[in-house]
Amino acid sequence: MIITAEGIVLRQRKIANNRRMIVLFTKKYGKLSAGTSVNEKSRSRAALALRPFTYAEYDIFKGRESYSINSAQVNRSFYSIGEDIDRFMNASAFIEYLDKVLEEGEPSPKLFDLSLEFLQSVSEAKKSTDTLLYAFIVKSFRLLGVAPELSCCVNCGKAPELFAGKSRMFSVSGGGLICPECAAEEKSATDSLIYNPPFDIIDVFRYFDAKPLKTFEKVDLRAEVRGEVREILSKYTDRYLGADVLSRSAGLEV
Ligand SMILES: [Zn+2]
Repeated sequence: MIITAEGIVLRQRKIANNRRMIVLFTKKYGKLSAGTSVNEKSRSRAALALRPFTYAEYDIFKGRESYSINSAQVNRSFYSIGEDIDRFMNASAFIEYLDKVLEEGEPSPKLFDLSLEFLQSVSEAKKSTDTLLYAFIVKSFRLLGVAPELSCCVNCGKAPELFAGKSRMFSVSGGGLICPECAAEEKSATDSLIYNPPFDIIDVFRYFDAKPLKTFEKVDLRAEVRGEVREILSKYTDRYLGADVLSRSAGLEV
């Protein structure tokens, strides 16, 4: 049976007989691994569609136990991502993140649409694309069912208005906002991951969640905010999705 699917390439590796295994994120079928004998060095339409940061339409033969890409054509190529180191690093982290959070055969069409928006925005961004990556990751939490609790303390349920004026802390281990009293108790536990950033972390999360991704093409976070947001997201994605892509390259930041 032949199926057609729009998708993006997550990764590929060589397999036997001059073939390659391509891992795609398709809109209709979710993550899908398919073999192909399309030669990556050729200039054919199908070869171009197998390059990184390309959104394409794939014709796939579905066998009893495996998939095979017969042909493909480019819908859109975000080639400008490869021309800039900042764009390339963050788009690569984005691809790695998708590869980690997606399960084979579980479609996530909304996450797919958000991913296309991300590639579009990264390829057009005029500033550092760090903020775009953080916004994408925060937006993905809801779609992946791991959104943090921001409306009350994760521990006692107290509304944030009741501790207005005091610091609003974020507990990675608790999965959201934590009030100062509960934080004081939890801090004695050895594996607590409680952050008390010098800005309102709730506002930052809500801002990322509420605004369209395109907004963040022009947003540069202050250095101390960026560092702290990165750290919190790194720990959060590690704990709830096993998909931390932010800690490794953290040292590369200027
Ligand atoms: Zn509490």
